[in-house]
Amino acid sequence: MTMNHVAKFKTTVAQSTDDGREQDATTWNGNGNASNVITIGNSGGSVYSAAFRFRGVDIPRNAKIVLARLKIRPAVTDSSDPDVKLIVKGIKEANTKVFSQSSRPSQRTKTVNSVAWHIIKKWEVHEWAQTPNLQLLIEEIVAQSGWKPGNALALVIEDNGSSSGQAETCYDKIKGDGYQAELEVWYTMKNVSVGTIAGNDRDGVEINKTTWQGSPTGNVITLGDDGADINEGGLIFSALSIPRHANIIGAYLMITQADQNNRFPNLLIKGFAEDDAAVFASDGSNRPSTRQKTKAQAEWTIGESAAGVFVGLHWTANSVYESPDLREIVQEIVDREGWTPSSRLGVVLENRSSWDGQYKLIWDYVKNTGEFAAKLIVAWDTIRTIYSAQKDILKFDKSNYPEYIIVHHSATPRDSTHFSTIRNNHIGIGWGDVAYHHWIAGALDGLGVHIVGRPENKIGAHADTQKMNYRSIGIALCGTFHPSGGGEQPSAEQLATLQELLDKVRKERGIPKERVLGHRETPDATNCPGDNLLPYIERYRSTGKLLP
Ligand SMILES: [Zn+2]
Repeated sequence: MTMNHVAKFKTTVAQSTDDGREQDATTWNGNGNASNVITIGNSGGSVYSAAFRFRGVDIPRNAKIVLARLKIRPAVTDSSDPDVKLIVKGIKEANTKVFSQSSRPSQRTKTVNSVAWHIIKKWEVHEWAQTPNLQLLIEEIVAQSGWKPGNALALVIEDNGSSSGQAETCYDKIKGDGYQAELEVWYTMKNVSVGTIAGNDRDGVEINKTTWQGSPTGNVITLGDDGADINEGGLIFSALSIPRHANIIGAYLMITQADQNNRFPNLLIKGFAEDDAAVFASDGSNRPSTRQKTKAQAEWTIGESAAGVFVGLHWTANSVYESPDLREIVQEIVDREGWTPSSRLGVVLENRSSWDGQYKLIWDYVKNTGEFAAKLIVAWDTIRTIYSAQKDILKFDKSNYPEYIIVHHSATPRDSTHFSTIRNNHIGIGWGDVAYHHWIAGALDGLGVHIVGRPENKIGAHADTQKMNYRSIGIALCGTFHPSGGGEQPSAEQLATLQELLDKVRKERGIPKERVLGHRETPDATNCPGDNLLPYIERYRSTGKLLP
């Protein structure tokens, strides 16, 4: 079964035996200390780790994780800014057993993937602290051969070399309901990409739409109205590796809050309408306000004023928060003519009438060389049908009665030909639209992407003799698959789309598989669709499958 969305799962520690702390890798305290507090880090000459086990984790095996986090509730307000170095790991068991003195976290096998969590600003009692994204760690757990939806998993927060006296705290489940740790996981069965800020020229803040600060004061990007100025963040992400025209099913900014903060700005997120977003010039000449934005935008309302009091989610220092879904913005950008998998993608977080003094602070790349820089998580699917044809075609407006499906190659380079070029060329000839009913794209439009050409009930312009244009559906694969023309091969993605399309069109129109032809198997004098594609079509006629 395919699932074409981002699903969300949330649970809490269910029983007091499911969490606790381990002191010096030797002593398990299932209820924390006498006050039911779990210490994590280096305190009083001991090193402490915390463990949390979650039951009934309803995530399919081999799910791709979009966002996964542990939320814990601090039990103490720090008196000064700490420097607590923690690391989160998973227990590498397909259905994790409970902890006990004879089966302590330190004795159990951990995941290969781990996530550092560095606390450098004060935590406050009773707020919620949330880890960075535990994406790969949770993927590793649910990829195990014995994993089944509903199994238990456990996370351990270990000390990662904190100095003496550097520790944080949280409550144990036995403290009561509402104090226990939570696990939140968003997942998909499709693909997930992570965009990163790859240098200090990729983020910063614009003040009052006039001044760009690539290395802002205090190393923080202010978002919103700080009482004196309007502050708007700009972020440029790379390493997304998303093909053009991919179907975007979810996209979220992940940002690290730089202090404990109970202020509530309202933001408006837009993308830069650029094929490959330019990095920010230090002189501010391409600051966000000067750039073309996407039509798609997303409001981020972080809090509101109720009876004169601001209410909303408090943010904790060194906790990671996600934006609303930005999929429409990302879709608009990856659909651009010049988008490639190696393109950069930029966004701006504009102020949207925040009240005076309402802002959040996120770390700029310049703080610890990107340790806390923003990320962009995108869930996407490869195959997507694009509708390109105009509704009304003036010429060739005659009916088609398909009895055959005819497969072509475009006889143009597979990975450097745009569909739009072919279509414009055919319109220029006077064919009114692209010659074919269906197009299967090369790399420029996304390998294997299906683009709908002229409507199937209109005659084609792809096979002349014996009135074939009146009796067939034309499907073209982008590429030159004949040896004399360059001898390219159809890609696996193109063949997968062709298989799906042939099956669908045949079923809808009752066309037998024996009537799927390569263009040159009609009386037309041509080598189309080439020696490198024709054998697949021959195999389809005999087995119904393009591939052996
Ligand atoms: Zn042809």
